[in-house]
Amino acid sequence: MRVAMIGSGYVGLVSGACFADFGHTVVCIDKDPSKIERLNRGEIPIYEPGLDDLVETNVRDGRLSFTQDGADAIRNADAVFIAVGTPTRRGDGHADLTYVHAAAEEIAGLIEGFTVIVTKSTVPVGTGDEVEAIIRRVNPQADFAVVSNPEFLREGAAIGDFKRPDRVVVGVNETGGDIAERARTVMSELYRPLNLNESPLLFTSRRTSELIKYAANAFLAMKITFINEMADLCEAVGADVQQVARGIGLDKRIGSKFLHAGPGYGGSCFPKDTIALVRTAQQYGAPTRLIEATVEVNDARKKAMAGRVEKILGDSVAGKTVALLGLTFKPNTDDMRDAPSLTIASALIAAGARVQAFDPEGMHEAAKLMDGVEMKDSAYDAVEGADAVVIVTEWDQFRALDLDRIKLLMNQPVMVDLRNIYRPEDIRQLGFKYRGIGRG
Ligand code: NAD
Repeated sequence: MRVAMIGSGYVGLVSGACFADFGHTVVCIDKDPSKIERLNRGEIPIYEPGLDDLVETNVRDGRLSFTQDGADAIRNADAVFIAVGTPTRRGDGHADLTYVHAAAEEIAGLIEGFTVIVTKSTVPVGTGDEVEAIIRRVNPQADFAVVSNPEFLREGAAIGDFKRPDRVVVGVNETGGDIAERARTVMSELYRPLNLNESPLLFTSRRTSELIKYAANAFLAMKITFINEMADLCEAVGADVQQVARGIGLDKRIGSKFLHAGPGYGGSCFPKDTIALVRTAQQYGAPTRLIEATVEVNDARKKAMAGRVEKILGDSVAGKTVALLGLTFKPNTDDMRDAPSLTIASALIAAGARVQAFDPEGMHEAAKLMDGVEMKDSAYDAVEGADAVVIVTEWDQFRALDLDRIKLLMNQPVMVDLRNIYRPEDIRQLGFKYRGIGRG
């Protein structure tokens, strides 16, 4: 099949490369010229494990290409994917659909023959209807279907998630009749390589599909927030949150994933999607109070993390040096969007601390966003002269630090481990003053 992918960011680029690897012919389009230039030079503009090889192979085999001008690709496509950003709209928390609407306008005048327009971006319920209306208005003769196909990949494990998904949700307009059937056929063909024993495709109505994505993210955000509150309770009562998580997670009804206490969720999806869902629910008069509380508790938690550093340093960080290890919102990505490190660093600086930091892949993005933070070349450089080291993101390399060396480099051996990657007894034995999350 011929695919045009509008938006070549974390989702568009990974999806495009994976569809090409399935054997389809894919053109990835982006309006950012520097992104396209880099891709055409063989450089990958984001950090995602395995993506460089996947892109290189498929470009070499002629199935994957990149362009700023997608007109031809859209004209020839069986399916045009919209994978543009849907950030939080300034001022009210709703999803900003500017980029989605603009993409729909662009597509409308170009499509020829039956074309399936697929919304892969995370969009509020009813967006498919809007995209359909835009295309119909601009091009009343067009033969097309608008389908919702939300993406569930995780940054850092994106290729595996795309190629071995738990499910692929496809929402079609149920009143679409024959057109809906043709759209289902195109979507089944696109994802056919995933059919091993049975197809992972879950067909629903378009509105249901749009809501599934928000419901999934809100549920996961709520699960993280639940264990974070349990962690605080563990600290108050003298219990261990990791054992609580294990003790509840072994119950198959609960499951062990997303039960790691930490500094609060961040990233390009959970913060914006939870608030957008809250706004949609309010707009329809069906408020989701659990998610409202989740958003509120998580925001407060991120802000409270700097307080933990202050507390261990005698209630003040003024004039002290704090080293942050890990800046991205999670390991194995360079994505800094809504990362807890941003809130933590600015609170520490506001309280008078000097902040030094290191991240294995996020330094470039972080430097643009973290005014006043001194970026260092390694974890060891970052801890030099520090009064406290804070593990913010659990990159593997921080699990195997030479702690004797760290201790020698620091002004005093103090560690705040916001990801519980060390065992308190081990680290205290080395002479560190240590504080984790939710451990007695
Ligand atoms: P991103 O910001 O990395 O990429 C979006 C790209 O779209 C940018 O490169 C931008 O230049 C381009 N773009 C915008 N308008 C365009 C247009 N009219 N024509 C061509 N290119 C255009 O965003 P992302 O992280 O890939 O997210 C995209 C969508 O997928 C969002 O709705 C997000 O919520 C959703 N999503 C993201 C993830 C994730 O882990 N990042 C996971 C699942 C779903």
